[in-house]
Amino acid sequence: MVAMEDAMYVCWACGEEIVVPIDPSQGREQDYVEDCPVCCRPNRIHLYVEDGEAPRAWSEEG
Ligand SMILES: [Zn+2]
Repeated sequence: MVAMEDAMYVCWACGEEIVVPIDPSQGREQDYVEDCPVCCRPNRIHLYVEDGEAPRAWSEEG
């Protein structure tokens, strides 16, 4: 059982830091599109989760 963690990405459009919850059931590498809660532009989010390390997330224009 893996605890739910958060990751953070920087919106490509407005530069805000957005915290997103990680759903471990979706796997170690995740790739999905989510609208920025600040500027509402779509972000394509890449997530990489590795045991014992902080999750990494980054975004690009979605
Ligand atoms: Zn934004």
